[in-house]
Amino acid sequence: MQALGLEGRYQLIPIPPMPEGETALREQLDRLRRGELDGLNVTIPHKQAVIPWVDELTPVAKEVNAVNTLIRSKGRLVGDNTDVPGFLADLRLCGVDGEAGAACLVLGAGGAARAVAYALAHLGWQVTVAARNTEAAQPFTRWQCRVVALTREAIQPVLPCCRLIVNATPVGMHPYPQGSPWPVDLAFPQGAFVYDLVYNPQNTRLVRQAGEAGLAANSGIGMLVEQGALSFERWLGQVPSRQAMRQAIFRAQET
Ligand code: NAP
Repeated sequence: MQALGLEGRYQLIPIPPMPEGETALREQLDRLRRGELDGLNVTIPHKQAVIPWVDELTPVAKEVNAVNTLIRSKGRLVGDNTDVPGFLADLRLCGVDGEAGAACLVLGAGGAARAVAYALAHLGWQVTVAARNTEAAQPFTRWQCRVVALTREAIQPVLPCCRLIVNATPVGMHPYPQGSPWPVDLAFPQGAFVYDLVYNPQNTRLVRQAGEAGLAANSGIGMLVEQGALSFERWLGQVPSRQAMRQAIFRAQET
């Protein structure tokens, strides 16, 4: 906002998980509806909880059944999902476009994994989802994703054709940066790109492991910036400086 000369604040509003948080969450939605706020983001664990209280979902939010951005449009509350286009935008910036039919592996079966698997499947990738709870990954089969257990034995057969690995679990995130979702003693597929959605720390253990194995890898800061920038555009109708946003993240992580 400062970089664009706009007045305003982007402020964290802690809301307890449901059901305790319902009144507090609905109060924020009402503030947006009344015009006291210009926009809202929602994150874990509210991305699905808000769905019953919006007036409308965008097609992407409906398909992935998750909302991260709330917009007021003609007095109505619209739930949108910028994780999907934000991930794809950053993947393109990483130089990964994936010719149709290329295989990829998504680790995890939560909200972020859903956005990523949907995005990749719709680009024509052959997506395999590896989850510790394979039941939770069953909804992914509607996008023709294959589901396997997140174990060395289950993942190994998928790797020979794999061109992209995406970590959509929180493993490796602050305050446990020593964690890695990659199974012990499993070799990375040569030539694949590793994309870790975790952005704190910036250089995750998975990114380091991939680098040591000779693979190109990135953490999730780029996606964080892109999904935020797309939310900003939807609320304020202006294109923010991605560079200023990235610097703000670095400053926040230093403190
Ligand atoms: P979520 O809905 O809680 O899902 C987490 C997934 O990871 C679940 O499938 C969970 O399995 C699995 N998981 C958790 N701990 C695990 C472990 N020790 N081993 C194996 N699997 C494990 O969370 P989310 O919203 O999808 O977020 C996931 C990560 O993505 C977070 O680190 C978040 O910060 C990051 N993210 C980044 C961006 C970005 O812009 N870069 C955007 C969205 C999310 P169970 O179901 O078995 O618990």
